[in-house]
Amino acid sequence: MNSSDLAFDQRHIWHPYTSMSHPLPCYPVESAQGSELHLADGRVLVDGMSSWWAAVHGYNHPQLNQAAIEQLGKMAHVMFGGITHPSAVALCRQLVAMTPEQLECVFLADSGSVAVEVAIKMAMQYWQAKGEKRQRLLTLRNGYHGDTFAAMSVCDPQNSMHSLYQGYLPQHLFAPAPQCAFGTEWEPQDIAPFEQMISQHSVDIAAVILEPIVQGAGGMRFYHPAYLRQVRALCDRYGILLIADEIATGFGRTGKMFACEHAGISPDIMCLGKALTGGYMTLSAALTTRHVAETISNGEAGCFMHGPTFMANPLACAVASASLSLLAENRWQQQVASIERQLRSELMPLKQHPAVADVRVLGAIGVVEMRQPVEMARLQRYFVDRGVWIRPFGKLIYLMPPYVIEPEQLSKLTAAIASALGHLYQAA
Ligand SMILES: *Cc1c(COP(=O)(O)O)cnc(C)c1O
Repeated sequence: MNSSDLAFDQRHIWHPYTSMSHPLPCYPVESAQGSELHLADGRVLVDGMSSWWAAVHGYNHPQLNQAAIEQLGKMAHVMFGGITHPSAVALCRQLVAMTPEQLECVFLADSGSVAVEVAIKMAMQYWQAKGEKRQRLLTLRNGYHGDTFAAMSVCDPQNSMHSLYQGYLPQHLFAPAPQCAFGTEWEPQDIAPFEQMISQHSVDIAAVILEPIVQGAGGMRFYHPAYLRQVRALCDRYGILLIADEIATGFGRTGKMFACEHAGISPDIMCLGKALTGGYMTLSAALTTRHVAETISNGEAGCFMHGPTFMANPLACAVASASLSLLAENRWQQQVASIERQLRSELMPLKQHPAVADVRVLGAIGVVEMRQPVEMARLQRYFVDRGVWIRPFGKLIYLMPPYVIEPEQLSKLTAAIASALGHLYQAA
């Protein structure tokens, strides 16, 4: 990439959440290998982001490449209406086997946000089929569920786009975010506001939707498994569906294969995405129970009303299937546990820094929460100059490296954060 490519990019190409008139700087990446990104100018960065939770096995992985190449030799895509193919069947077999036992019907969709749309549509059609008019969702503040309209409508109303889209979004119910942190003592009153809302609105609520244990893009908060257990029990008491959005947490990131396992619960609908293909391409899934699937199918429509053009794309399914096999072979539990130990020992001391509000670690996720929002462009550049790829947002500087990262590479990431705090946030 030359400077004219960069100029074209600045002038003509949107990036996530950026301005077209004042775009933030972009770093051209030419290739990526293992836990490293190779910049066009020859610099090599250790990756602390796994490309937003996705690249758990690292980049340019021979087995994932091989799966894509083999599939490409057969067919890149074929419609899924009236047709099936071996890669979809293999992948869905693995998903049904690895997720909680009751989840046995798989809907493959395009992206995380679409899986959330699908889950919400399933809940709506479920109640419609039962002849009940239930149209509200109950969710938690500080949640994030994606950028499409139904997903946006259950994102935190303060830190997301609710005010911008006022009038376009359906009004759902928001319980306060859980306060009892993961690893602290459970305080039963933490669930009280949620319990009050669900009991007050129980006949209007189609489903509860939440991110189990880890609230990701809405604040990187880790909450107590007892909270999730109570939510499941309350949903059961009132006959309300529970949708677990495991798009960020799924596939081992929190130290369990799925974050629901921390609480020993099973949702009625589970959304998966991000790491599903090992970060190779976009693919998501919404899994549900036989009961929900059959209720929908026996309803007025006679089917579930959704069917994306690229549903079950064979290339994506083949790579996802290979990625799930790799996860099993790679002993992800040991990998994540050792990342967790190292993040704890290297990040926790930063809690003493006056500019730091909190440091927390769960599985292969390490979070340094600042007292003030960071200057993203400046901090990003500081990190790139130190050979690491870390993308902070708001007050959060966080790491979620590929599971295959080497201890020295991880130390480079944590050292860069420590050094940024030392240099850029010296107490005045
Ligand atoms: C990223 C994310 C989504 C949206 O996924 P996309 O693939 O970006 O559409 C939804 N829910 C959660 C919890 C996420 O982290």
